[in-house]
Amino acid sequence: MSAASTRIERLRASLASSGLDALLVSSLPNIRWLTGFSGSNAMVVLTQDDCALLTDFRYATQVKHELTSGVRPVIEGASIWTGLWALLKSMPAVSVLAFESAHISHQDAARFLDAAGEGSRWRWRPALNLVEILREAKDADEVARIRTAVRIAEEALARTLPEVRAGMTELAVAGILERELRTAGSEGFPFETIVAAGARSALPHARASTNAIAAGDLLLIDFGALHAGYCSDLTRTFVVGRAPDARQVEIHAVVREANGSASALVRAGMRGRDADALARDYIQRRGMGEAFGHSLGHGIGLEIHEAPRLAKTAESPLPAGAVVTIEPGIYLEGWGGVRIEDDVWLASDGAEVLSCFDRDLLQLG
Ligand code: ZN
Ligand code: ZN
Repeated sequence: MSAASTRIERLRASLASSGLDALLVSSLPNIRWLTGFSGSNAMVVLTQDDCALLTDFRYATQVKHELTSGVRPVIEGASIWTGLWALLKSMPAVSVLAFESAHISHQDAARFLDAAGEGSRWRWRPALNLVEILREAKDADEVARIRTAVRIAEEALARTLPEVRAGMTELAVAGILERELRTAGSEGFPFETIVAAGARSALPHARASTNAIAAGDLLLIDFGALHAGYCSDLTRTFVVGRAPDARQVEIHAVVREANGSASALVRAGMRGRDADALARDYIQRRGMGEAFGHSLGHGIGLEIHEAPRLAKTAESPLPAGAVVTIEPGIYLEGWGGVRIEDDVWLASDGAEVLSCFDRDLLQLG
């Protein structure tokens, strides 16, 4: 059985245990994980004996190459909703259907929840995370894709750093990095590349701007690569144009120790909050707990932020097979910020840090 058809069988088991005849899958990452389809317009209806993917004419050729065995394409010429009603009418055993309540607009939900609508002949149930829960544990193929996405990101960063100089804008650095990501094989950018210099590095989600990098500035770069649909997510912090000062060295050392010990100790089976504490307790002991205002990490996969979470409020255990980020940071308003982020695979027999790019406070330019 292929990995993808195992996925379909696992989702069928979860439908059966929830008393559902069918699930309407509308999240594109969920559709990709389940069927292999990577296009931008589709819905999937999964029942115990059918898995139909509805899409439009633009993807008629693509589906022939992408769909996993056991998935039947339905090319709809009018609208995907017209196609959906026709498809459901051809499935007489389907009465109770779930929809993905986190992934459907109010306008679209009205098509089947309004009593007057065509969809009202079926009984609809909102469902949360039925597919996402199954996506948390990655199979060997998914880990291999993420591993390649990490390698591409590291190669691009290595080619970018020698070009960075004081006086360049953050956007110019982001441009070089994105060019190198493409050159190294990245299909795109899983999120907007963060390049933040000086005091702006204290903004954990700063966008690259037209601000010029000054000599002596911290430079925080947070970015990722995409390979075969899968993301990597890395952060390193540097100093530009001058040797780092004592404060920069001190703060960086705290973040590096928090990153290193959390990466070494994180394990599958640990609650998300206990994983978060691996880094947070150390930063707190160093008196900088207030300056670490976000959670320690998140799952990565087809999406850049997915389950599980490594956070103070995350009670669930981290599943074996998940790939998560470990990204402690310290942010001091008006001074700057340091973050070091790595990607870690929580294999059942231990954890492996997939990213290995130099974590020293390197001087650029
Ligand atoms: Zn990141
Ligand atoms: Zn991240």
